[in-house]
Amino acid sequence: MSGKKRKITDFFNGPCKEETGESLKCPKKSIFPTEPKKIAKKPEKREKLDLSQRILDVGQENIGNLHCEACNMIYSVDSPKEAERHRIFHNRFETTVNFNIEQNLIEILKTLPNQKIGQHRIVFICAKMAGKIVKTSVEYWMKFVNESVGYVSESTGLWDENRRVYLSMGLSAESEIFLAGILVAEKLEEAINEESGETTKKCKNDDWIVGIDRIWTHKIKRKLGIGSALLDAVTTRDTKFEHRKRRLRVAFSELSDEGRVFAQKYVGKHYENEPFLIY
Ligand SMILES: [Zn+2]
Repeated sequence: MSGKKRKITDFFNGPCKEETGESLKCPKKSIFPTEPKKIAKKPEKREKLDLSQRILDVGQENIGNLHCEACNMIYSVDSPKEAERHRIFHNRFETTVNFNIEQNLIEILKTLPNQKIGQHRIVFICAKMAGKIVKTSVEYWMKFVNESVGYVSESTGLWDENRRVYLSMGLSAESEIFLAGILVAEKLEEAINEESGETTKKCKNDDWIVGIDRIWTHKIKRKLGIGSALLDAVTTRDTKFEHRKRRLRVAFSELSDEGRVFAQKYVGKHYENEPFLIY
């Protein structure tokens, strides 16, 4: 040893010009012989190595392709691009990215009839009020909503004159406004009493029965009362939404198990001693 004292920082202050032959004494020289910019590339190389290792471990016939059973996507683990595409697709219902509401759309939604129910701002949309931007956005969200709730038949179209759309906005962790919940209702002439199988007709005073065609709440906003607020918006008296004398009857269509529990609870609370209606 030369006796020259060195601090730990000496190792990071550029190549050591002395003692070039002794790597242990000058790790900077031997481990990081190039300039710092190139160091950043190292992890990527390691990652690629790990991925190829994974393929060998899996031992699949179709080397390099993985089948995600959760989302049913087949993708190549060799391609960072495909892996990223899988990540986005896999999390399409969990993230808010597909449900973001841009500022210009927020400004438009503000002009539509809306009401605060509990903590939730509910916006009312029907075909004659909504312009192209609103319709296009709702249709885009609906693709994800339909897949999420298992809805397949768009027989009469979202903007049929007997249909109404209600939506609720939420705030993400990144402080972005997104679609927190949506409900598609339709005017029914009659519905079926689930217990007796009898048909219940609309009231004499011409109040229609509200058919709940679809109701959906974003995964990160569940159990916060958004579903109830949407149902309240469509069934209770509100001159902004539509003129009514009293709470309208409600009937549900093709409910999931989870949806049925929620709907029964809602009906039990607001329609005491009345049957559960379906259509
Ligand atoms: Zn997946």
